[in-house]
Amino acid sequence: MELECLGASGEVGRSAFLLKTDKKIMLDYGIKLFDESGTAKFPEQTNVNPDFAVLSHAHLDHSGCIPALYTSGKIKWYGALPTKDIVEVLWKDSMKIMGDGLPYRLGHFRKALDYFTPLEYKKTTTMGETDLTLYDAGHISGSALVELEYKNKKIVYTGDFKCEETHMHQGAKYIEDVDTLIIESTYANREHPKRKEVEQKVMEQIYETIDKGGNMLFPSFALGRTQELIALVRHYDKDIPVYVDGMGREITNIYLKHPRFIKNANKLRDAVNSVRMVEGIPDKKDATREPSVIISTAGMMNGGPILNYLFHSNQNSKLIFTGYCVEETNGWYLQNKGFIMKDEEELHVDLPFEYMDLSAHAGRTDILNFIKHANPQKIVVVHGDNTQGFADELNESFGYDAVAPKAGEKIQV
Ligand SMILES: [Zn+2]
Ligand SMILES: [Zn+2]
Repeated sequence: MELECLGASGEVGRSAFLLKTDKKIMLDYGIKLFDESGTAKFPEQTNVNPDFAVLSHAHLDHSGCIPALYTSGKIKWYGALPTKDIVEVLWKDSMKIMGDGLPYRLGHFRKALDYFTPLEYKKTTTMGETDLTLYDAGHISGSALVELEYKNKKIVYTGDFKCEETHMHQGAKYIEDVDTLIIESTYANREHPKRKEVEQKVMEQIYETIDKGGNMLFPSFALGRTQELIALVRHYDKDIPVYVDGMGREITNIYLKHPRFIKNANKLRDAVNSVRMVEGIPDKKDATREPSVIISTAGMMNGGPILNYLFHSNQNSKLIFTGYCVEETNGWYLQNKGFIMKDEEELHVDLPFEYMDLSAHAGRTDILNFIKHANPQKIVVVHGDNTQGFADELNESFGYDAVAPKAGEKIQV
């Protein structure tokens, strides 16, 4: 079989892999929101005509280009049930932001939604002579490990995955006896600190800030992190005022609409019912008028209501970043240079900030354990900043046959 690597090869972003069995199967088809120059980047080819597509999960770096497959074709694309509802929100938002910059138009977006085919976890369907099965990847609602079997060879594409339990998910389970493993390596060179300890520290910071009369600001991704933070805060404290603003509100409703895809939907529902969803200006004013927790998009602070809170919270307030900020985004500027960019102007930010790791990706040990259980003949390392380094390490220190393809490369699997 041939695997054509159209993105997420030596980089994080624009995941896109075309697998050729008896059919051409597109595994993810994403965009990179910000490359080095701060503009969006698409897969190496934006005019592919596969026979099928499979989406590991809804994040735009995996899903953002799926509508471009409908500029000419009409094919089935598979994913777990919540994925369709989530991509609808995310695609709409990216069309609003990027408009003509995208390689598709509104009609293709609508057509793509019509051709979505939901697939239950652990249920197998066929694409020509290739069997397809999805397993819970523990990353976000509907995220999947993608297992493909063709002529008695098993290929697993991990998409993004997390093994450790979180407030939202149980964590991904290992898959055994894999022939070819295509694995993400975002945190292959780092361990995450122990989750419970990070959570304790987050709560300490919240109490300290609220005691001083400030707002605890969480710039937060709408998808995954917002829901995790709501559940986390309410797990430890039922009473402190929590406000949720931005696109995270809409995504939270989708999480609750698909309760089977989260660990404890009742707990999330109770938590959501006890926080204030910011609907308009009066809510925004209330949020900063009292000591509170404010969870708001955007996670990397490139737009979204978080910027408003940044300049309307009192000086006893504080920011906590819980996720990765790409270079040249406002989150990155603030953490590295102390300012943010607004309308090409540098705006100095006085509020103190901290970074606390609540990542939804597997850390180094979990990645290595996942590989050990899969025991693959061949490993394709993708979706990381140093895929070549990790592939070299897998070859030299662990005795595997690993490669780190470059974007545009075709490899035999
Ligand atoms: Zn993801
Ligand atoms: Zn990703």
